[in-house]
Amino acid sequence: MAEFTMELNDEQKEVRDWLHGFAADVIRPAAAEWDEREETPWPVIQEAAKVGIYSLDFYAQQYFDPTGLGIPMAMEELFWGDAGIGLSIVGTGLAAVGVLANGTEEQIGTWIPQMYGDANDVKVAAFCSSEPDAGSDVASMRTRAVYDEAKGEWVLNGTKTWATNGGIANVHVVVAVVDPELGSKGHASFIIPPNTLGLSQGQKFKKHGIRASHTAEVVLENVRVPGHCLLGGKEKLDQRLARARERAKAGGERVKNAAMATFEASRPAVGAMAVGTARAAYEVALDYAKTREQFGRPIIDNQGVAFQLADMRTSIDAARLLVWRASWMAINGKPFTAAEGSMSKLFASETAKKVTAQAIQILGGNGYTREYPVERMHRDAAIYTIFEGTSEIQRLVIARTLSGMSIR
Ligand SMILES: Cc1cc2nc3c(=O)[nH]c(=O)nc-3n(C[C@H](O)[C@H](O)[C@H](O)COP(=O)(O)OP(=O)(O)OC[C@H]3O[C@@H](n4cnc5c(N)ncnc54)[C@H](O)[C@@H]3O)c2cc1C
Repeated sequence: MAEFTMELNDEQKEVRDWLHGFAADVIRPAAAEWDEREETPWPVIQEAAKVGIYSLDFYAQQYFDPTGLGIPMAMEELFWGDAGIGLSIVGTGLAAVGVLANGTEEQIGTWIPQMYGDANDVKVAAFCSSEPDAGSDVASMRTRAVYDEAKGEWVLNGTKTWATNGGIANVHVVVAVVDPELGSKGHASFIIPPNTLGLSQGQKFKKHGIRASHTAEVVLENVRVPGHCLLGGKEKLDQRLARARERAKAGGERVKNAAMATFEASRPAVGAMAVGTARAAYEVALDYAKTREQFGRPIIDNQGVAFQLADMRTSIDAARLLVWRASWMAINGKPFTAAEGSMSKLFASETAKKVTAQAIQILGGNGYTREYPVERMHRDAAIYTIFEGTSEIQRLVIARTLSGMSIR
């Protein structure tokens, strides 16, 4: 375990500064254009691939930083650049994590490279769990996967929604029901290889923020995939289902809602994205308040403005500390006895929403226009309290963890 320190080491500072440079020189200047276009910024992803930021190697290196701070640091810098472009760059990582967490070594080696492509031909991947009737309530998922013994294939049918990179991905990871009796314990994840028949993109959503990130429905109609596309393999799945059936028969353990119980370790990464957006808006507001003059002096000379900036910075630093604590706990295998992962995501995402609104206020009329970036940052910030579990779901997880009671 790394010794406690509040300082990044030299290597971390170097990576942070390198990422910051990319965010400042490549992402930030492109942000307004891709927000207006509402399209995936392929040229920016390609630039990121060329310098090594868009690759599994990069994420693996950050992930295995023994302090746990590699991923939150990377997320904060990229999303400081821009949230929509940031998500376009890291969205593939969400699908890759699905394979890393559940896949065999062979599956990891086969599919993750196809998720990223290479610098000359970049690809993206999508993780498809949410459905029109199964958002927070993951257990009510309906997409069905049935095994065709004769052909050794899985057949998937259903509609996924809100999938980041859905329909444009080279590889889709789809969560489906294999045993409806078992609630979320009866789910399994499947790889849908490139160009598989029966998978199509439904509507592409026109969004409030993070508009450079593609979000769409994914329709699965008699999608047939070979048996080896089941993540983890059939033997492991059969064993897992048998254990879950035993427990269900014993009448003991309640089948839990996966959205409420899992993701504790991945949520700090979303918190770090929110910290990046909040910090970006705060910096614009601070600069503006120091240079904008009214009544013959800079507006920051007024306590009403200066105190807002003091509160903004205090909340951002507090959010980062919660994110770093949870990330440190995750890498060191500490149990989340107070749902510290959810805590960090809750606080950081609510902070981003509040701070970006305060930034608009400090910029006055200019803050309300698209000439200045805080308007976009405020629209972007609203996503953090919604995806990867809404703020209400984070509170539910925290309250249940603290009380040990199934609060509704
Ligand atoms: C831009 C974007 C990208 C996304 N990317 C992906 C992706 O890549 N893959 C993927 O699978 N999903 C993705 N999602 C889906 C996202 O995770 C869901 O939107 C989220 O889980 C909420 O589900 P819902 O939208 O169905 O809202 P609902 O679950 O219908 O919630 C509606 C409201 O009710 C509240 N609520 C629900 N249940 C409770 C409760 N028990 N107690 C208190 N309040 C409650 C919620 O907090 C919320 O305020 C994405 C969503 C968006 C908007």
